[in-house]
Amino acid sequence: MASEIRHYIGGQLVAGRSGRTSPVFNPATGEQTAAVSLASTAEVNAAVAAARAAAESWGDTPSLRRARILNRFLRIAEDRIDELAAVITSEHGKTLSDAKGEIQRGLEVVEFAVGAPQLLKGEVSENVGTRVDSFGVRQPLGVVAGITPFNFPAMVPMWMFPVALACGNTFILKPSERDPSASLIIAQWLAEAGLPTGVFNVVHGDKEAVDALLLNPDVEAISFVGSTPIARYIYSTATSTGKRCQALGGAKNHMVVMPDADLDQAVDALMGAAYGSAGERCMAISIAVPIGEKTADALIAKLEPKIRLLKIGSGFNEESEMGPLVTRQHLDKVRGYIDSGVAEGAKLVVDGRDLRSNEGGYFIGGTLFDRVTTDMKIYKEEIFGPVLGVVRSPDYATAAKMINNNEYGNGTAIFTQNGDVAREFAHRIRVGMVGINVPIPVPVAFHSFGGWKASLFGDHSMHGPEGVRFYTRLKTVTSRWPTSIAQGPEFVMPTMK
Ligand code: NAD
Repeated sequence: MASEIRHYIGGQLVAGRSGRTSPVFNPATGEQTAAVSLASTAEVNAAVAAARAAAESWGDTPSLRRARILNRFLRIAEDRIDELAAVITSEHGKTLSDAKGEIQRGLEVVEFAVGAPQLLKGEVSENVGTRVDSFGVRQPLGVVAGITPFNFPAMVPMWMFPVALACGNTFILKPSERDPSASLIIAQWLAEAGLPTGVFNVVHGDKEAVDALLLNPDVEAISFVGSTPIARYIYSTATSTGKRCQALGGAKNHMVVMPDADLDQAVDALMGAAYGSAGERCMAISIAVPIGEKTADALIAKLEPKIRLLKIGSGFNEESEMGPLVTRQHLDKVRGYIDSGVAEGAKLVVDGRDLRSNEGGYFIGGTLFDRVTTDMKIYKEEIFGPVLGVVRSPDYATAAKMINNNEYGNGTAIFTQNGDVAREFAHRIRVGMVGINVPIPVPVAFHSFGGWKASLFGDHSMHGPEGVRFYTRLKTVTSRWPTSIAQGPEFVMPTMK
């Protein structure tokens, strides 16, 4: 019988009681490795109660002490990164080096959060009126929850909880049910680092668990990362119940290749950005936009042989550059998109459906479409697989207009040697994260991550200064001490004398 993946509530691993589970697979072999418990509303409410019981004392703990615990977590994670990476590879499928890369990027947020005492410093104005001082402080919200996608089972939770905890909140993580085990290793390491019981909890589950978090009045804020339809639902439900919410959605990221770009550099960038992690990245480039027919022909000619040489295999094989997709359903969905591109008339240059090796696992080869147009399904929808489409554009202005008209606005890039064009692109493009000769412009931890349009619902991006604003409430205190009060009451609107 497959082993059961349990919840982590109030410092204990807790067996599921709902009677509902979801299978967890090794995507490289197709074998079921475990069954994850799916929490009922009552189980989620128990986790919220544990987090609520811990909230006041954690919120009152000096920020320096909270930061020291995160610092210990950082050291544990650095020492045992291989253990977490192996769990990610076995449930998600990505290569071990890629799994370590995502953990590293997540730990950078922990490094940022360790500086919380500095980040939480308020503002003071002395003598805003005679003998009147004013100061602003940022206080924790209380219990906050994070709902995360399958594609970064360590990094995306680490976009959220280090900042939330450093700011004095208690946290409930609802990870993806497709690769849930990383969350429990993180919980164990936080406990070893000295985090008090109930400050960090994990509930596994599906819509029922998510709805229970959305509807529980003790949950003050929801951070969500996942597909756009679910992000829309999360944002509208959370805000309608008065919660603070940041909901990051899907993406369709374009990379413009100008005629003056270093083409070899652009091709290498596209290979990593389109096919790394089998395209299961929200910042993957899925549309290349070469400017002019000559650039397009040269780009395709250089890309095609490289895609055919991609080394595809188990993430545990050091040679592999690309692992399998996460589930059988996702593999079928990506194959369906390739069928639809062919049916709609795009030119299939490299067909990933041809991959015949690796029986049993959810593998697909790198795929390249030329002559994609903006009315095709493979242009409009997020594929989330190793499928790159080329939309030929006659000039820069047409390319920029297309990107601005796209529903999504997560990331985009331009490859050029012309600073003026690059500057114009960075200034005018309606996308949240922009790369100039950088294909996947994921901001570092001390900046903030977030897209525009259908890629983010809410007012705050994640981590960095925006994360601190999201996970705290501003309070402004105006104080006057007794000598002035002794002068008696004032009945007119106070003005600064
Ligand atoms: P998903 O939307 O299917 O799932 C995300 C989370 O929502 C999971 O925890 C899941 O259990 C939960 N969920 C699923 N269905 C639900 C429902 N009906 N009601 C309530 N909750 C539900 O996303 P995924 O397939 O796990 O992840 C891939 C998606 O995430 C892609 O669209 C990708 O672009 C996006 N993503 C975005 C970013 C970003 O920063 N914008 C980062 C990573 C992934």
